[in-house]
Amino acid sequence: MMTYVALYRTWRPQRFDEVVGQIHVSKTLKNAIINNRIAHAYLFTGPRGTGKTSSAKILAKAVNCLNIMDGEPCDQCVNCLAINQGNFLDVLEIDAASNRGIDEIRDIRDKVKFAPSQGKCKVYIIDEVHMLTSEAFNALLKTLEEPPSNILFILATTEPQKIPPTILSRCQRFDFRKISDQEIKNHLAEIAHQGQITITESALTTIARKASGGMRDGISILDQCIAFAGKDIEDSHVEMVLGILAEEQIFTIVKGLFSKDITTVIMKLNEYIQSGKDIKQIIRDLIEYSRQLLIYKVSNNEELLTMSKDMIEQVKNEISSIPLECLGKITTKLAEVEKEMRFSSQPQVLLEAALVEIALPEKPDSLPEKSKVQVAPKIKAPKKQGKNQEQSQEQKIVRENHELNFQEIQRLWPEVLEEIKNEKITIHAFLIPAVPEGIKDGYLELSFKQGYNFHRNKILEPANKELVEKIFTKVTGMAVKIKAVSEETSESSKETKNNPVVQRALELFGGDIVEIKD
Ligand SMILES: [Zn+2]
Repeated sequence: MMTYVALYRTWRPQRFDEVVGQIHVSKTLKNAIINNRIAHAYLFTGPRGTGKTSSAKILAKAVNCLNIMDGEPCDQCVNCLAINQGNFLDVLEIDAASNRGIDEIRDIRDKVKFAPSQGKCKVYIIDEVHMLTSEAFNALLKTLEEPPSNILFILATTEPQKIPPTILSRCQRFDFRKISDQEIKNHLAEIAHQGQITITESALTTIARKASGGMRDGISILDQCIAFAGKDIEDSHVEMVLGILAEEQIFTIVKGLFSKDITTVIMKLNEYIQSGKDIKQIIRDLIEYSRQLLIYKVSNNEELLTMSKDMIEQVKNEISSIPLECLGKITTKLAEVEKEMRFSSQPQVLLEAALVEIALPEKPDSLPEKSKVQVAPKIKAPKKQGKNQEQSQEQKIVRENHELNFQEIQRLWPEVLEEIKNEKITIHAFLIPAVPEGIKDGYLELSFKQGYNFHRNKILEPANKELVEKIFTKVTGMAVKIKAVSEETSESSKETKNNPVVQRALELFGGDIVEIKD
């Protein structure tokens, strides 16, 4: 039976020249080899999948290779071959994250005394070095303070800020950078070509974008796509494997935002979510697209766009009609929402509210001047006979008392929401995570669920707050002043949520654009 070797193993770089996107590192290391000026300790830092461990292994080969050529290991001699196969006694890889790793570090001090047994130089590659305990760091430090000859330490980490300064100061540091989408794309195209795999240009673009600077991730995704689709990979295969939106789909929403086509925006968003797309990925894609449009708008340089050629043509056609200010606003807004969504149990509601806010043309302040001064409120004429007639009576009494009646407010809350929705749909959306909690110091407390500070802050904006109060007054006949509080700070009873009136309000929240998911 044939064993399947993952693509990223097959394509692991074996020479400095094969490491993609880190030429500043490769060149310096090759020069050090050529001039025989190897340091005792190196620190390789940078995001995952950017070539740190691969470069460490190449360096380990280079210092042990018997036929070094222009600073590159030959990959043919016994030492190179043994290192490639992982059975070279003088190259030790330690995973600092494992328990065994800690013991191995402690052993190093005893073992470094002995000369290399097989090669020219003993190499310790310590991966995820930031995971070491302080005890292990101390042991390592002692060795680094008096480095024996013929010993090379290569420390690799994604989190250099967690390395003690005493260690840092004894290492020569190399920062591996995120690999550009274009570099990843080119490399993946080469891999596909070698493997006689056909893949569309836009599929490669999508994979590169999704790899976000890590070559290993990019190759792994390509591998998954091959497993899924075979030797002929199309856009839809990549979208299926990754559970992401197609460029077209993202662009449809972005265009809807620019053209203030709120129906398309919300309908499409729902459609994509229903079809199983990940909402957090959707917002990341939206941010990335609007950011790219912003960059293009400013630079007019299409080489900065990470999009397929078809999409770039579309962008070029549309971009002139989009005001720069609008692009900036949308990008900022989406980034805010993404941050907020990380702590939210209802990310969809949050995203919908934000998209509605972006797509809705800003109404001029619709409040009549007189509502800004405290006046005796007019009582709303009852819509129907019967039950409403009684309500109206109650409202009169309340008004005469000049006191807020909480039960009454709770009862009328659904109606208040309905009115607000008619007046300004965005404000309605911001009120979705809120419930009336109680009366305190003459204010009605509206309690917002945890993680909905974005919504709460929106309601606290003076114009919005005023509108909510105006409608409260209109519906209830009481001169309601509101305070928007967070669930954890509100003083009123938590039992409110079990109140049948509030339950009813919760049912009514849905309306026609938003959906509550528990
Ligand atoms: Zn060699």
